[in-house]
Amino acid sequence: MANEFIALESGIHYLPGGVNCLALEDGNGGAVLVDTGLDSDHGKKLLKALEKKGLTPRAILNTHSHADHYGGNAVIEAKYPEIKVFAPPLEEAVLRYPILEPMYLYGARPPQELQNKFLMGRASNARIAPEPGLCKLGGVTMELLEVAGHASLMYAVRVGGFLYAADALFGPETLKRHPLSFCMDSRLQKESAAGLLELEGINTVLCGHGEPSSDLQTLVAQNLESFEHTTRAVKAACQESASVDLILKRVCDSFQLELKNAGSVLLNRSVVSAHLVELLEREEVSMRVRDNLLEFGVV
Ligand SMILES: [Zn+2]
Repeated sequence: MANEFIALESGIHYLPGGVNCLALEDGNGGAVLVDTGLDSDHGKKLLKALEKKGLTPRAILNTHSHADHYGGNAVIEAKYPEIKVFAPPLEEAVLRYPILEPMYLYGARPPQELQNKFLMGRASNARIAPEPGLCKLGGVTMELLEVAGHASLMYAVRVGGFLYAADALFGPETLKRHPLSFCMDSRLQKESAAGLLELEGINTVLCGHGEPSSDLQTLVAQNLESFEHTTRAVKAACQESASVDLILKRVCDSFQLELKNAGSVLLNRSVVSAHLVELLEREEVSMRVRDNLLEFGVV
């Protein structure tokens, strides 16, 4: 993880790392942070990098509630107790009650093993961010774009010709490393990615994970192809009807993926479940209970 902000455009900087975090200057010695990284270490690095630039954090915007995007909040809030933290509706509830993420992934009170920093950050005093559209947040004018699908709700951020896509798009390396992109709603995930193509005048796009790019069109096309590839793999795994867990196993086998811990099984199980709902709604698979198993099979 880098220790210093890199300038993308005038007044717009990012700290590269496992998750890219942004600082948007207010022109008055202050900055709005967009996402804060996985944990307190990341939060401390952000504070140091801000200090180096002589900037004071005025507000935090968390694009969505995945722990790697808000885990740095707590140390920043401890140092700046007055700071306001914003997140999209519903996502803001997870920031206040982080147990919700391992709980919805597991479907009950989660085992201790799942209560780790990758699935839950330290609680943050978040409030609901402004509605999508132009807004002034922490003294900075920005446009919030609704890009749901990867999370229940997520905001991308546009400032002039710069777009922070959050996890609506992944860099090509990330897509290669994680061919099953996380999503709660695969249909919305595709719609949100495709919707970004309609933006005009974007010179620089930064994803939550990956390098900045000047080619939004190609990035969207790569992501759409990857998301659709997953839908096809899930459908292929339903040729013989099976439970979600068995379909997950078949999909992982076809991608030659080896899941190594309970967290990654549950995260990828959600991805499969999301694509199954899309296929159900397209009437390409059906769901039934057989021998006390909830099964999905091609129609
Ligand atoms: Zn995410």
